Amino acid sequence: MSRTPVEDFDVVLVGGGVMSATLGVLLAELQPDWRIAVVERLEEGGLESSHAWNNAGTGHAGLCEFNYTPRSADGSVDVSRAVEIGEQFCASLMFWSHLVERGLIGPPESFVRSVPHLGLGRGPEGVAHLRARWEGLRDHPLFADLEFSEDRDVLAAWLPLVFAGRSDDEPIAVTRSGRGTDVDFGVLTRQLLSALRDVGGVVRFRHEVRSLRRRRGRWHLSVRDRGAGRRRRMRAPFVFVGAGGGTLPLLQRARVPEVRRYGAFPISGRFLRTSRPDLVAAHRAKVYGHAPPGAPSISVPHLDHRTVDGREFLMFGPFAAFSPRFLRTGRLTDLLRSVRLGNLPVLAASARDNRSLMAYLVRQVAQTSRDRMDALRAFVPTASPDDWALVPAGQRVQVLTMAGGRGAMVGFGTEIVTSAGGSLAALLGASPGASTAASVAVDVLAAGFPDRMAEWVPRLREIAPSAAEVARLDPAELEARSARARRILGLDPVPVPRKDTA
Ligand SMILES: Cc1cc2nc3c(=O)[nH]c(=O)nc-3n(C[C@H](O)[C@H](O)[C@H](O)COP(=O)(O)OP(=O)(O)OC[C@H]3O[C@@H](n4cnc5c(N)ncnc54)[C@H](O)[C@@H]3O)c2cc1C
Repeated sequence: MSRTPVEDFDVVLVGGGVMSATLGVLLAELQPDWRIAVVERLEEGGLESSHAWNNAGTGHAGLCEFNYTPRSADGSVDVSRAVEIGEQFCASLMFWSHLVERGLIGPPESFVRSVPHLGLGRGPEGVAHLRARWEGLRDHPLFADLEFSEDRDVLAAWLPLVFAGRSDDEPIAVTRSGRGTDVDFGVLTRQLLSALRDVGGVVRFRHEVRSLRRRRGRWHLSVRDRGAGRRRRMRAPFVFVGAGGGTLPLLQRARVPEVRRYGAFPISGRFLRTSRPDLVAAHRAKVYGHAPPGAPSISVPHLDHRTVDGREFLMFGPFAAFSPRFLRTGRLTDLLRSVRLGNLPVLAASARDNRSLMAYLVRQVAQTSRDRMDALRAFVPTASPDDWALVPAGQRVQVLTMAGGRGAMVGFGTEIVTSAGGSLAALLGASPGASTAASVAVDVLAAGFPDRMAEWVPRLREIAPSAAEVARLDPAELEARSARARRILGLDPVPVPRKDTA
C-alpha cells in the first residue's frame, strides 16, 4: 500500500490567526529562502479569535486600560505593564508600516483607524486610581498627549454620549489620548496571509493538523484536508502552534511534557451592539472603565466605536458566558477531552483557589437582559433596549497551572511555551494578544532560533523591534519612529474636542 508522500518545509505554522500570520510574514522577511507553510482548519484566515466580531478591536497600547496599571492598597499605581504594552503596540505599528511601505499589505485604513482611547474613573477610588495612572504615565513619550480632567463640561465635550442625561453627582474623571486605534485584526490577518503567499509561502485553508510527533530531529504533522477528505503529511524542523483555543489540545495529543500539568477553562464573551447612526456619531471613541470590586480583569467594561466592513457600530461589554468549546467552531466535548490524569490536580486546585472568579462567572451567566442594560447605562445613561442587541464574541481558553501551591490562571496574558530544545513553540492565553503580535513573534523567534538571532537582530531593529528594543530607544528616536509609522498608516491623532467646538 503506498504511503501518503511527505512534504518538507523549514517551518510549519499551525493556525491561520493573527499570531501565525504575523510570525509567518516576519520569518519570510528574515529568511526569504525558507519554505514556510501555514495550515488553517477553516475556509479562511482570521475567522476565530482574530475575527473583528470575536474581539474588541482595541489596539491595546496601555492608553486607557486600568488592568494594566494595578493599584496597591497604599494607593500607588504600577505603570510598568502599560508602558510595556505601549512599547509592544509601537512594535506592531512599525511592522505594519514596513509592510505597507513594501506594498505587501494595505491600504492601512482597511485594518487600522485612529479612535481616541479614554479611561473613565468613577467614585473616589476610581478617580484616585485614574489620576495616579495619568501622573505615572504622562512623562513617557508614548503617553505624551494623555490628558486628565474632572471638569464635567470638558468630559461632556470628550464623551457626549456618556455624559448626556447623566444626573448623578458622584466623583468622575476621564483621561484622553488622541493616539488610540481601532483595528480589524481579521482583515489584517487575511492581508498578512495573502502577503505570505505573495512572497512564496504556502497557505492551506480547510486543513486541520490532527497530530504532531517528533522523530529524528523533525516534527511530523498529520493533516486532514477537510475539503477533499484525505490525509496529508508535512515535516519541518520547527513548528509553531498558534491554534488559539486549539493549541492546548494539540500539545496534549503530542504529549508535550511542558503542558502535562496544564488545565484549561473556556470563557466566552458577549457584547451589546448598536448601529443606530446618531448613537454611533456621538461616540467616536473607546472608553474603558474599571472592573467592579472582586471581578477579574476580563470584566473591565468598555464602550467601543468600531468600523467593520465599512460600517460603524458601538459595542459594549464584555459579558462573560459559558461554553465548553475551545474554539467558536469547536466541539461540545472540548473541555471534557482536555481533562487528563496529569492535570486533574490543577483543575481541582483552580476550582478551589479561584472562588471569586467562579462566583463572578456564575453571576455573569445568570444575568438577565435588564442587568446587562443596567451595566450599559453606567456608560450610556440614555440607552434604550430597543437599540442594542446581544451578540456573541470570542472564546478565551484560560490556561490553568499551579503557582505557589495554588491553582492559578496563567495570567490573562499571552504565554510562549517551548519544547524539544525550542524546535516547537506555542502560544497560550489571550490578552492583550493581537495588538502585541509583532513583538510576541520576535519573542517566539528568540525562543525557537537563538543561534540565528545575532544575524537577524539588525534587520529586526529596522522592521519589528522587540518591546525591549523599543524600550531602549531614546525618547527623541522613539517619538520619530512612532510618528513615522503612524504617518505611513495614516493615523493622525484625533484633535481634542473643546467645550465650545463639541
Ligand atoms: C472577548 C475578547 C476580546 C478581545 N479583545 C481584544 C482587543 O480588543 N484587542 C486585542 O489586541 N486583542 C483582543 N483579544 C485577544 C485576541 O483576539 C487574540 O489574542 C488573538 O486574536 C489571538 O490570535 P491567534 O492567532 O492566537 O488565535 P486565533 O485567531 O483564534 O487563530 C487560531 C487559528 O487556529 C485554527 N486552528 C485551531 N486548531 C487548528 C488545527 N488543529 N489545525 C489547523 N488550524 C487550527 C483556528 O481555526 C484559528 O483560525 C480579545 C479576545 C477575546 C476573547
